[in-house]
Amino acid sequence: MRAFVFPGLTTRVIFGEGTIARTGEEIARLGHSRALVLSTPHQKPEAEALAASLGARAAGVFAGAAMHTPVAVTEEAVAAFRASGATCVVSLGGGSTTGLGKAIAVRTGADQVVIPTTYAGSEMTDILGETSGGEKVTRRDPAIRPEVVIYDVDLTLTLPVGMTATSALNAIAHGMEALYAPDRNPVIVAMVKEALPAFRDALPVLARDPGDRAARAGALYAAWCCSTALGYVSMALHHKLAHVLGGSFDTPHAETHAILLPHTTAFNEAAARAALTPIAATFGGGSAGAGLWDFARAIGAPLRLADLGLTEADLDRAAGIALRNSYDNPRPFTERDIRDLLQAAWEGRRPQ
Ligand code: NAD
Repeated sequence: MRAFVFPGLTTRVIFGEGTIARTGEEIARLGHSRALVLSTPHQKPEAEALAASLGARAAGVFAGAAMHTPVAVTEEAVAAFRASGATCVVSLGGGSTTGLGKAIAVRTGADQVVIPTTYAGSEMTDILGETSGGEKVTRRDPAIRPEVVIYDVDLTLTLPVGMTATSALNAIAHGMEALYAPDRNPVIVAMVKEALPAFRDALPVLARDPGDRAARAGALYAAWCCSTALGYVSMALHHKLAHVLGGSFDTPHAETHAILLPHTTAFNEAAARAALTPIAATFGGGSAGAGLWDFARAIGAPLRLADLGLTEADLDRAAGIALRNSYDNPRPFTERDIRDLLQAAWEGRRPQ
């Protein structure tokens, strides 16, 4: 027997095609009459179209969301939120936009309706990472977790092929670490087991045809499962290393996760083989780490940290930073272990 605590799931989730049309009724259901719509500059046209469709319920659009939630952008957005008379935010986009919505919510008490358009998985979590002065600080707080998430398969059809692959591997990383999390529970493990074959089946199709609606639906469903895993159990070495590289070397979020994943999985497999069986069983390859590397290569994902502009001297520094704070991981490690892992990821070697 394995004892567990299941904390319950609090976020209301709407999943389907064309579901963005239900945004207005969800704002009203939360008791709000005016919402500020958020996006990146790139997705401003979609945010403006959503605001137009909301009519009097839209208090305006703030299209300045940026990667890693810079505090300076948040301060500008909070001022725009207050000036607009909104009491609620609608975050339309990937993790960057969701992060901005969370940063506004935690400062103002605003409710959040999130409409995710990537597979990064911030929408179901109580986690917020913010940057200022070149440093990224992450916290968990129940006030950060969005009230409503609207998954609309239609909005993912435009996600470019490269980002589709890396964002999906980013999601799988949440599922991978959830499988060995000390605070895992049967509901979360079942959701991860749902997600793995869904991603395995969808991604090769999307690599050939990013407009395949059935595959898009499968990938978004899997992303919801993995986002929930990230939101309700603890993460370990993989997320720590991705955070170090993204936070201190400004490497792109999804690509960093994608490249590290086979290596962090292989490293922890030595201590958590039974827990990681669902990955080995889903992706083949003889082991979970090798199976994920083969899958990443097959769907055209990047494999080498060297291609993100990192140098071997950067790896020395990253290994030192990763050791600074202690955190739970199924396999104990030294600075040398981390340096070796980073070297393998830098070269893009296939794990055994
Ligand atoms: P992103 O949100 O930065 O999006 C990348 C680019 O893709 C943006 O220009 C965006 O506008 C565009 N884009 C998004 N969806 C699109 C679509 N369907 N079609 C066309 N273009 C689209 O990238 P991301 O990987 O989703 O998010 C990364 C950020 O999210 C990082 O800052 C990371 O720290 C954060 N994150 C946080 C959590 C959490 O729980 N706090 C979880 C995962 C990620």
